[in-house]
Amino acid sequence: MSLLQISEPGQSLTKPPRRRAAGIDLGTTHSLVATVRAGQALALSDDDGNVLLPSVVRYRQAQPVLVGSAALDGQIEDPLNTLSSVKRFMGRGLSEVDRLAQQLPYQFVAEGDEMPRIHTVAGDISPVQASAEILRVLAERAGTALGGELDGVVITVPAYFDDAQRQATSDAAKIAGLQVLRLLSEPTAAAVAYGLDQGAAGVHVVYDLGGGTFDVSVLRFSKGVFEVLATAGNSALGGDDLDRAIAEWMLAEAGFADDIGHADIRRVLALARQAKESLSDEEETRVELVLTDGRVWSALLSRSQCQQLIRPLIEQTLAPCRLALQDAGVALSEISEVLMVGGSTRVPLVRELVGEFFSCQPHIDIDPDKVVALGAAIQADILIGNKPDSDMLLLDVIPLSLGLETMGGLMEKVIPKNTTIPVVRAQEFTTYKDGQTALSIHVLQGERELIADNRSLARFELRGIPPMVAGSARIRVSFQVDADGLLSVSAREETEGVESHIQIKPSYGLTDDEVESMLRDSLTYAREDIDQRRLRERQLEADQTLEALAAALMTDGQRLLDDDERQQLTQAADVLRQLRAGDDEAALQQAIENLERESATFAQRRMDDSIRRALAGHDVNDFLSNDNA
Ligand code: ADP
Ligand code: MG
Repeated sequence: MSLLQISEPGQSLTKPPRRRAAGIDLGTTHSLVATVRAGQALALSDDDGNVLLPSVVRYRQAQPVLVGSAALDGQIEDPLNTLSSVKRFMGRGLSEVDRLAQQLPYQFVAEGDEMPRIHTVAGDISPVQASAEILRVLAERAGTALGGELDGVVITVPAYFDDAQRQATSDAAKIAGLQVLRLLSEPTAAAVAYGLDQGAAGVHVVYDLGGGTFDVSVLRFSKGVFEVLATAGNSALGGDDLDRAIAEWMLAEAGFADDIGHADIRRVLALARQAKESLSDEEETRVELVLTDGRVWSALLSRSQCQQLIRPLIEQTLAPCRLALQDAGVALSEISEVLMVGGSTRVPLVRELVGEFFSCQPHIDIDPDKVVALGAAIQADILIGNKPDSDMLLLDVIPLSLGLETMGGLMEKVIPKNTTIPVVRAQEFTTYKDGQTALSIHVLQGERELIADNRSLARFELRGIPPMVAGSARIRVSFQVDADGLLSVSAREETEGVESHIQIKPSYGLTDDEVESMLRDSLTYAREDIDQRRLRERQLEADQTLEALAAALMTDGQRLLDDDERQQLTQAADVLRQLRAGDDEAALQQAIENLERESATFAQRRMDDSIRRALAGHDVNDFLSNDNA
């Protein structure tokens, strides 16, 4: 939902019939667009029949940008100017994404802790701009399919996206010239696609394993509202990691492990991915590796062999599932439905392990690549007013707090941010002067204490208050936000019953400066929330690092490390374990990095060792344990 703005009271808010609306899943690896036609949601394809648009944007000098598959080659030919995975940077400051940034080839440009830009031949590009390019292509696709420019879109975002990340997403839409009807959380969109909003109240789990990320969300549906109870995940685990595990196996099997170049690695990864994907349907597949220098290797890979390779990675998704349930305060037995989202949930072993974990049959009927976009399309169709008879879906939260000006120029929050809409909240105020007969009401939006720091939405007056001593009038001000994000504020003097009210509707016409400064401000304020979340993420990461190290020490510690080295590692692990118990996120991150640095040699030795052993014709399965390192 965008920021709110005044409309004249009485101005008609009804929408004309049949308008063009679409739902967009703006993904880390792939994006796509869907729309409702003849009552059916369907994903739209490009001229070549491809529904998925790779989320890759290539910038060129004095030439138009390339987006999607046209940009893919650029990842090899022109990595500095070919941006992928920009979703990870949306609404983030450099310090928040520093480590990720170091793993990428890009030249980041950042001032202070602002969202980093990426230096390209076409200038310094912000993640918001790159996302806008992707949105533009998808909107055009939808416009062509629907026969005209879109009237509005619903864009999905991860449930854990904070205000700044959501704002960055709607900024991208604005740059692409799109009217955002609503930002919808991805798990909620999946639940809508499955029609859970038409069903009974219950608690649902959405398991989303994509290309590079894993997210699990626990949703509660009741009284027409989805509420995200908890989210967890691993922002560095996805289908790409499965590809890597298979590629390592292939290289080891082929005996090419130690002397192949960058281009060949790409080739092997692509081959691994192909093999993985076909093993979702087939029991076995032939892999044929041809290196640039002409060396060739070929073998049969069976599904069960592949499962052995990827099982440890898939098992890693279960800890966050446990954590999310715990955070939500929900027992396994309370879960009604488990929905599978993301291309990687096509892997049969994923379905099996998730089913086992939740002791139920997860839903796989809707294409896991499309389900989020389809839900967004259904929602967009309703929000744009194409289904006037349908019950409005009531699915969102207020991104910024709404409140009133009180004495001393302070803002009193009436509805805190992140409250699920629709919502009605009332608060009582009183007069501050003897005999006061009118009260001026100033409606504000924002997170700051001082009214000057917040956004002014509307002012109106309540007149006809019976004259009384200061402080004895009782004036009830209620805020009502409906499912469309429309805010009505009314004030009523309780003894005489005089009333006044105003209606405010969403606006998309903010200037960039306004958006930017709201963004900065809410960021400052939201720091606490973000910090909390980051700490939790970091703790999870610490657990994973410690677990992996413990497993590696158990299997190879004696063999590959001398006493000093082992002691040093154990010490670094102890430091990390201690910090894990505290709440110093920065120190924790340092300790993780430190432990990773300390264990790099060990990891390298284990890798070399297993490759050597694989090459020497030893049991290749020994190699598998390396995936944990
Ligand atoms: P994201 O949400 O991160 O953009 P997607 O949901 O599009 O990602 O998932 C992409 C991942 O799904 C890739 O790793 C891809 O290999 C994997 N994938 C797609 N189809 C299959 C399949 N048939 N079997 C296994 N994995 C698949
Ligand atoms: Mg996705």
